[in-house]
Amino acid sequence: MSSNPADILASLLAMTRDDEMDCDSFAERVAAYVDGSELPQEVLALLEHHQLICPECEEHVQRLVMALQLALPVRNAGC
Ligand SMILES: [Zn+2]
Repeated sequence: MSSNPADILASLLAMTRDDEMDCDSFAERVAAYVDGSELPQEVLALLEHHQLICPECEEHVQRLVMALQLALPVRNAGC
């Protein structure tokens, strides 16, 4: 009964640590995260973990990535 996806998600959500990232902290760092800026491994891990457990922030990331792709010139234009 532990292979139930809902149980797996519940155990993921229960895996909170003292330094668990919340949505506010995520929002503060998400720009650097999608920008490819160098972040400490610990911060990256927290961001990735929060993105996994928080659909709202996951959507936030997807929107930023799309905005970046629209705003930046294509590097391999071949011109
Ligand atoms: Zn969040």
